[in-house]
Amino acid sequence: MKLIWHPHCLEYGAPGHPESPERLVCAHAFLSDPQLGHEFVPAEPITEKELLLVHTPRHIEDVKKLRFYDADSPRYPGIFEYAALSAGAAVQAMKLQGFALMRPPGHHASRERVAGFCYFNNTAIAVRASGKKTLLVDIDGHHGDGTQAVFLGDPQVIYISLHSFPNYPGTGLRSEQNCYNYPLPFNCGDAVYLKTLDEALASIDLTGIEQLAISAGFDTYYKDPLASLGLTPEGYDRIGERLGGLGLPVFGVLEGGYHAEDLGKNIHAFLSGLSRRDKK
Ligand SMILES: [Zn+2]
Repeated sequence: MKLIWHPHCLEYGAPGHPESPERLVCAHAFLSDPQLGHEFVPAEPITEKELLLVHTPRHIEDVKKLRFYDADSPRYPGIFEYAALSAGAAVQAMKLQGFALMRPPGHHASRERVAGFCYFNNTAIAVRASGKKTLLVDIDGHHGDGTQAVFLGDPQVIYISLHSFPNYPGTGLRSEQNCYNYPLPFNCGDAVYLKTLDEALASIDLTGIEQLAISAGFDTYYKDPLASLGLTPEGYDRIGERLGGLGLPVFGVLEGGYHAEDLGKNIHAFLSGLSRRDKK
């Protein structure tokens, strides 16, 4: 699969912060093994026009000038450039039907708010930039409150999120309009997760859906410190297979996943499952 990547994403961070450069150092090293068959495409920064598809001019200026406060999202020098590159990678992933292997993540960022390690909502921007009717499935261990806030009531998007509850950000207990939320107990395991995903996918009407976008977080991993749902690499393979089985053009964007050492393995398992239909 095409992995949209740029080493600039390793240049910022704070000691002890779980959203660390180490995550992507490890994932990139693992996924670079030529035997895995991935192709790397250099990420390019997003345009201001594309940022405006989701975010307000004030929010963009605030990120540029470090005028924001969120306990989880540090005011890193140059974070605008890093966040713009991560968002640009998501748009490229959409165009190439690939996977954006970048940081910072995006699904907690709303139109005018930085939150939970997220500055711009990468996946939401890519969906808007496509102009296509989209099924957006968020498999990160946290509810994508920012993504839901962007798309609530939007007839162009169906949003499905499976996430741990109770947990940060405290939303996603119930479904609302076009946003279907599946809160799950900590460490529920592969079987419960897959059954829930199957139910979620079976319950929606795919008529008119032109593409599948995946907010792909791996903090559901059983060793993850932040949002474990007890999932294993085999579980990620099955999740990928289920989503790939929908037969839609698909792209993915990395969200969370804080067990740095195994992140690459989990991403690869997911992408293998996702692309299996192509090999049949
Ligand atoms: Zn998360």
